Amino acid sequence: MNNIKTTNWIKSLTDQAQKENWCVSCGCTTCGAEFFRSSLIKKCFQNNNLPFPNKTRPSRRSKNLIIVDLFSDDIKFCVKTISKELANLNAVDIDQINTGALRHIFQEIYGRIYIKLIQDILGDSPAGYYLKSMEAHSKEREEKYRKHEINNSPKILEENRRRKKEFKEFKAKAHAKRIIKYNKFSFIKKYWFKFKMKMKKP
Ligand SMILES: [Zn+2]
Repeated sequence: MNNIKTTNWIKSLTDQAQKENWCVSCGCTTCGAEFFRSSLIKKCFQNNNLPFPNKTRPSRRSKNLIIVDLFSDDIKFCVKTISKELANLNAVDIDQINTGALRHIFQEIYGRIYIKLIQDILGDSPAGYYLKSMEAHSKEREEKYRKHEINNSPKILEENRRRKKEFKEFKAKAHAKRIIKYNKFSFIKKYWFKFKMKMKKP
């Protein structure tokens, strides 16, 4: 065991990103935060004294390879390495790390098949709690989205259209009925008026 306190590399990477104003935005449509994401996986190999894999998936990115450009074994290695480092963050680190950057790191590794692996590595660490709160939050959002989906499903939309159409027809019928009634009434009125005029005449 060594007692030397080394700086957590996730902490130093996110600090550097903040200091040098890297884009860390999840879903950035301009740069895709590729430089940050690329640095994240490069660090995984560097810090384990491993060369960056020379075999990657064909990618449209020229130099900023990101996790999805790697082959599955390398992806798994990165997910493990990042999760282990996240698990070593203390609560103060988590507080200090740029929230956007931290969320982005979680998003980067949180692929369906690795959820269990990440949860196991993070366990009850501060990052583990952070993940749990993120999951709860996204579950809530998903729920809201699901409700929105239900309200906008083709079936419901069709139902709404049908109801609207029926109501429109109902209104038109009611309108037509009113007109007939009104016409009848005005017909009677007209004759009543004529009759009255006739009676008034000397
Ligand atoms: Zn960007």
